[in-house]
Amino acid sequence: MIRFENIHKTYKSGSDALRGVNFKIDDGEFVFIIGKSGSGKSTLIKLITREEKPSRGYVLVDRFPISKMQSALVPVLRRQIGMIFQDFRLIESKTVFENVAFAGEIVGMPKRKLEQMVEIVLGVVDLRHKAHAMPLELSGGEQQRVAIARAMVNDPKLIVADEPTGNLDPQTSESIMALLEEINRNGTTVVICTHDSNLVDRMKKRVIEIEDGLIVRDELDSGYCAQIKEAAKSVAGGKK
Ligand code: ADP
Ligand code: MG
Repeated sequence: MIRFENIHKTYKSGSDALRGVNFKIDDGEFVFIIGKSGSGKSTLIKLITREEKPSRGYVLVDRFPISKMQSALVPVLRRQIGMIFQDFRLIESKTVFENVAFAGEIVGMPKRKLEQMVEIVLGVVDLRHKAHAMPLELSGGEQQRVAIARAMVNDPKLIVADEPTGNLDPQTSESIMALLEEINRNGTTVVICTHDSNLVDRMKKRVIEIEDGLIVRDELDSGYCAQIKEAAKSVAGGKK
């Protein structure tokens, strides 16, 4: 589904966000990307969605070569990807139903099919009873569930989430992660960036840890393992 080969990203400011990153994520995987603030997590997500292009190296997402693909194909790529953000990014003037439907309207889904899909995904996130509420009438956790429904409405192959629990309390965060896990069980590939390593350790999933733009850990079924982390660090080389 996703392949990063020797990816470097240097912003115009001169900031080296990624400094030689390699990994592969297969169809159907559930992967956490963890690391401190400023380590390069959001940059990595933006290379998957092609909000940014790599400075060097090769990114492949669902057969699309990110650096070389034509701009005209970007909407086709994005249709395969559901995106979830820390700040939910709902449209405040639209109802829950309209927010979710909007993602399907943009890609031209036929009205009947879209209405059915909205009903289904609002059911998945358990918010059918709030379909006609406005986003600001909902709790943070509910707003994020609307955003998850919106990410699913086009039945994407991949869901990427950048700090989806960053604005939520620990208990709500757990339920949001459980929901994403459930979506993954139905075959959707899920990639989540977070700096909440406690939450991640409890979930026993693959964890890719980045530090200063380098991968320092890539473990299946991870619990925290300091020894492996230290070994990976010495292989990856010193800090910038
Ligand atoms: P994280 O999401 O892990 O906090 P980011 O990917 O946002 O990390 O940032 C990695 C590094 O790249 C930081 O040093 C940050 O300041 C820098 N950076 C991120 N986005 C930009 C940008 N648009 N322009 C310049 N520098 C950026
Ligand atoms: Mg970030």
